[in-house]
Amino acid sequence: MATTVENSLAAAAVDKVIGNGKAAPPLPAEGWRFCRASREQSALAAAGDKMSIRAVRFKIMASVEERGPRPVLPLAHGDPSVFPAFRTAVEAEDAVAAALRTGEFNCYPAGVGMPAARRALAEHLSRDLPYELSTDDIFLTAGGTQAIEVIISVLSQPGTNILLPKPGYPNYEARAAFNNLEVRRFDLIPEKGWEIDVDSLESIADENTTAMVLINPNNPCGSVYSYEHLQKVAEVARKLGILVIADEVYGNLVFGNSPFIPMGVFGHIAPVLSIGSLSKRWIVPGWRLGWVAVCDPKKILQESKVITSITNFLNVSTDPATFVQVKLNLYLLEGIHDDIEFCCQLAKEESVILCPGSVLGMENWVRITFAIDSSSLQDGLKRIKSFCQRHKKKNLLNGF
Ligand SMILES: *Cc1c(COP(=O)(O)O)cnc(C)c1O
Repeated sequence: MATTVENSLAAAAVDKVIGNGKAAPPLPAEGWRFCRASREQSALAAAGDKMSIRAVRFKIMASVEERGPRPVLPLAHGDPSVFPAFRTAVEAEDAVAAALRTGEFNCYPAGVGMPAARRALAEHLSRDLPYELSTDDIFLTAGGTQAIEVIISVLSQPGTNILLPKPGYPNYEARAAFNNLEVRRFDLIPEKGWEIDVDSLESIADENTTAMVLINPNNPCGSVYSYEHLQKVAEVARKLGILVIADEVYGNLVFGNSPFIPMGVFGHIAPVLSIGSLSKRWIVPGWRLGWVAVCDPKKILQESKVITSITNFLNVSTDPATFVQVKLNLYLLEGIHDDIEFCCQLAKEESVILCPGSVLGMENWVRITFAIDSSSLQDGLKRIKSFCQRHKKKNLLNGF
């Protein structure tokens, strides 16, 4: 409470200074309402606590004697890419550099990812599955981290909960806290090679449980689950009516002869959303490329609209500020009643595409971009003008 008051006072003081001595209007009695977001018990604050692995690591780093006799050995953080011995494949670097130089990839891509990349991933992942993934089954994300964000966000509904492994990867819990999604934990059993305590899943789940997270190969335990174990997990998920989020960012990174089996192999038993990433296997975490693969041959996630939610989530993007908005004076036009009609008719007669304002919350406005070469812009404006002249009402007063 005290911090809220102090913050409000500080805000008022800053306001006074920046406002050149003009008295600031009084604050609302409750203080700034957005201060609620950072109060102790809020989801944001809780998520901050959960995400403090980095903070703890920095604190430990700060304890190192500055002029100790030996070099500091960082064995806490798993990012081999900082060491030259762990450089990714030259072919991968060349491909990215070449793609960059074509200048063809600087545009806004589709929110769900470029079709060619999605297709390539679908083919790559289908090799280890008993069915084919299609381009539409792949969503590209900014690393495995955004894949987690997307999935947790679309699953978060008031009153629902999710099952997470303990020990586990902290990002799930942090993301759930951000979304006010209740977390329930099940144990991994060290004596059984860190297998999931399958029986406990049934005892902690209820009718509000939507999903469980399975990490394979496992971070932090390093275990790789057998075919039989994964099948058993799928069967329990089916019994509980929940989907399996299979975090497979370490997919195929196995030692010895234990094979990596993707959870999607059991997608016909219970639907699976598989999370993958270039970060670990290709040692390029800075490239921020990950994905969600929908391994659901029975199309249950499509019917339940989870796929639509994922698509919508990824399509929420910012547009650049290279637009002007123009208000339509429909009173002056014959037979055109709103902005959508205006845009459709214009497209039909003049092959000019404008964005109707109603999709942006501005009914009967249109949005025109000027992020286009100037001759096309001039041509477009000319066509819009002739369209308006052609549709001008004939019997207007005052010479209009
Ligand atoms: C590293 C990691 C991620 C995140 O992947 P990025 O591509 O680095 O964002 C997700 N899950 C697990 C288990 C990880 O170890």
